[in-house]
Amino acid sequence: MSEITSSNESPEDAAFRSETRAWLEKNCPASMRTSMPENETVWGGTQETFKNPDSKIWLENMASKGWTVPTWPKEYGGGGLSPRENKILSQELNDINARPALQSFGIWMLGPAMLEFASEAQKLEHLPKIVHGEIRWCQGYSEPGAGSDLAGLQTRAEDKGDHYLVNGSKVWTSYADKADWIFCLVRTDPDAPKHEGISFLLFDMRQKGVTAQPIKLISGSSPFCQTFFDDAKADKANLVGELNKGWTIAKRLLQHERQMISGIGGNAALGGSEGSLENIAKKYIGTSPDEKIAESATRDKIVQHKMNDVAFKLTMSRAREEALQGNADGALTSMFKYFGSEQNKRKFELLLEIMGSQALGWDGDQFSDRELNTTRQWLRSKANSIEGGTSEVQLNIISKRVLGLPD
Ligand SMILES: Cc1cc2nc3c(=O)[nH]c(=O)nc-3n(C[C@H](O)[C@H](O)[C@H](O)COP(=O)(O)OP(=O)(O)OC[C@H]3O[C@@H](n4cnc5c(N)ncnc54)[C@H](O)[C@@H]3O)c2cc1C
Repeated sequence: MSEITSSNESPEDAAFRSETRAWLEKNCPASMRTSMPENETVWGGTQETFKNPDSKIWLENMASKGWTVPTWPKEYGGGGLSPRENKILSQELNDINARPALQSFGIWMLGPAMLEFASEAQKLEHLPKIVHGEIRWCQGYSEPGAGSDLAGLQTRAEDKGDHYLVNGSKVWTSYADKADWIFCLVRTDPDAPKHEGISFLLFDMRQKGVTAQPIKLISGSSPFCQTFFDDAKADKANLVGELNKGWTIAKRLLQHERQMISGIGGNAALGGSEGSLENIAKKYIGTSPDEKIAESATRDKIVQHKMNDVAFKLTMSRAREEALQGNADGALTSMFKYFGSEQNKRKFELLLEIMGSQALGWDGDQFSDRELNTTRQWLRSKANSIEGGTSEVQLNIISKRVLGLPD
C-alpha cells in the first residue's frame, strides 16, 4: 500500500479521514495528547487504577469504536477497519500526539493467535474483553528448564473429565502478579515426542492453585514473576486448538510477539520531540556556531543510527504490505526481532556516550528525573534481545530458514 496523504486519497478515504479527525477532536481528552509517562500506561484488567482519570475516558471512547484493535472484526468488538482506514487512523492519532488508549499482551499476542486458531465460542468469550481492557493476560511459556528450548517444557495438565489440573512452574512471566488470566503452554502427553505433547490452555490466575512471586530486574523494577501452579484448574472449554497440537499455536504467537518487540525502538530516543538524539546531543555536548552538534564524530553516529532506523521502518512497512498480499514469511519476524532489539540497545549505548555520567545515575539531586529514567531504560534495553527469544536463537532461525544452513 503506497503512503496515503491528504493529496492522493480517494473520496472515500478523505471522508473517513475527516470523520475520524472530527471524532478524535471530540473524544480524545487534552491530557491524552501528550507524551505518555511510563506510570500512566494503561494495561487494563481488574487491577488497573487509571492514574490519570482521562485515560479511563480515552479507553472507553476508543473501545466503544473498537479502535483499541482497529483491524479486528466487528463481531469480536474490533473496529473492522481495512488496512487503508487503519493507516489513516494511525496518521490522525499521530498528528494529535494521542497516547495509546490500551496496551496489552491480549492485543499484541493472544488476540491475533486466537483469531486464527480459536473456536467461534472462544473468540466471542475472550476477544471483546481484550478490546475493552477488562481482562489482563500474561504469557506462560518459559520454565526454569525451558527457555530457548521451549518445547522442553514440563508443566503438566491432566485430564480430569470436565477440566484439566495444572501442576508445574513458569518463570519470567511478565506481570503475572497483575494479570487476570494466562495463556499457557502445558504438557498433555508426556510420552509423545516433545513438540507433539504440548497444548495451548487459557485459565484464570485468580484461583487458589496459582502463586506469582515477583523477580527484580537489573533496572530495579519487578515486571516479571516466577509462577507456580499447584492443582490449578482449567476448564476444558478453554483448550485452544486441538489437544497436543499447541506447538503450532505457540510458534505463531511468538511471531506476533517478535513483531511487537521489533517496533520497540521508535524514533524519539526518550519520548517527545525534545527527546530526539539530536536535541539531547545539542544539550549535553553543545552546538557549533552554525547550530550543529559540536562534535562531528557524534553527528556521524547519530546520522548512521537514524539512517538505520529509517531503512528498518521502511523494510517493516514493505513486509507488512507484502503480508497483506499473502506473501508472509515467518522468518522475517526473526530478522526484525533481531535487528529491532539490537538497534534499540545501540540507541541507548549512543545516549550513554552523549550524556556521559549523567546517564549513569541511580538516585540523587544531581540527576533530573529524565536522566534517572535513562539509566533505567538503558538497563531495561538489555532485556530486549532476550525476551521473546534471544538474538542467538533468532540468528539460528535465520541461518536455517533463510540461509538454508544445516542444523
Ligand atoms: C524482560 C523479559 C520478559 C519476559 N517475559 C516473559 C513472559 O511474559 N513469559 C514467558 O514465558 N517468558 C518471558 N521471558 C522469558 C524469555 O522468553 C526467555 O528468557 C528467553 O526465551 C531465553 O530463555 P532463557 O532465559 O531460559 O535462556 P537460555 O535458553 O538458558 O539461554 C541462555 C543463553 O544461551 C543462549 N542459547 C541457548 N540456546 C542456544 C542455541 N541453541 N544456540 C545459540 N545460543 C543459545 C541464549 O541465546 C542465551 O544467551 C521474558 C524474558 C525477559 C528478559
